Amino acid sequence: MAKVAFIGLGNMGGPMAANLLKAGHNVVVFDLVSELMQQLVDQGATSATSALAASEEAEFIITMLPAGKHVEMVYLGDSGLLSNLDGSPLLIDCSTIDSQTAKQVAAAAAEKGFEMIDAPVSGGVAAAQAGTLSFMCGGAETAFLRAEPVLKDMGKNLFHAGAAGAGQTAKICNNMLLSVLMTGTAEALQLGVDHGLDPKVLSEIMLASSGRNWSLEVYNPYPGVMENAPSSHQYQPGFMVDLMVKDLGLAMTAALESQSAVPMGSAARNLYMTHKKKGHGRLDFSSILQALK
Ligand code: NAD
Repeated sequence: MAKVAFIGLGNMGGPMAANLLKAGHNVVVFDLVSELMQQLVDQGATSATSALAASEEAEFIITMLPAGKHVEMVYLGDSGLLSNLDGSPLLIDCSTIDSQTAKQVAAAAAEKGFEMIDAPVSGGVAAAQAGTLSFMCGGAETAFLRAEPVLKDMGKNLFHAGAAGAGQTAKICNNMLLSVLMTGTAEALQLGVDHGLDPKVLSEIMLASSGRNWSLEVYNPYPGVMENAPSSHQYQPGFMVDLMVKDLGLAMTAALESQSAVPMGSAARNLYMTHKKKGHGRLDFSSILQALK
């Protein structure tokens, strides 16, 4: 079993670190919020006073942070990990960030002699808890193979998408599609309800028909249809609107870089941005249904 530093213990990082503990790894945790560290200490982790202190003698350093600026802060700069780390830990960034920053941090790591992969995840909080996340990885094949023993204790699908940054590109393509499917599912359900249909019956019909998709299968946005979905719990996240807006911004930046047409992703981004501006940023992203009521 390995010594793992885990930095960033939020909605996703907390349960991911807990699964590493369950698998028997020696996990040292750090987050800016001490209550989140305490929850992991109660499950057998050791807490540290900084990201660097958590990383001492670690074989694997895993970060699960909100956005690119947080990843830059933890790894780069005079007080960042890269300038101060000893040994040869494998660096695994599981945060969803822009591929440019992922490439920059990986290049800075390589300059200092560290192997690094970007390994963003899909599946949401439920999959983080169940240990069934999908990991989409970018970096050298050797680094990907080195990461497998810890990634498999947090997920069930491990993909090597390509060179540094490729995991992030795969992730934003997936999340752009997810935003389109979620808004489409919400508007179809609301249209049916506006015409007097029961959302449960309509969901069953579409699940057995060609409109079937992940949002209908496991994350129905209509309150009361699916007991465990955020929609049945006042849209408590889950995956926050703020984070979806961030991911759609990353997708738009990527589309500009490659001059790709993304009309559906662009429409979904506008809907989510308007929803956020109306004060719903901290709700689950399935709350987009409320914007269509
Ligand atoms: P979150 O906001 O719940 O957690 C982020 C944690 O990072 C917080 O606890 C925060 O205190 C901590 N943090 C921030 N800066 C730090 C620093 N410098 N040092 C230590 N800790 C620091 O976010 P989340 O939902 O866990 O998401 C994390 C990442 O995973 C994001 O990039 C998100 O886009 C991605 N993601 C989220 C989901 C989801 O369903 N929530 C699904 C897939 C991917």
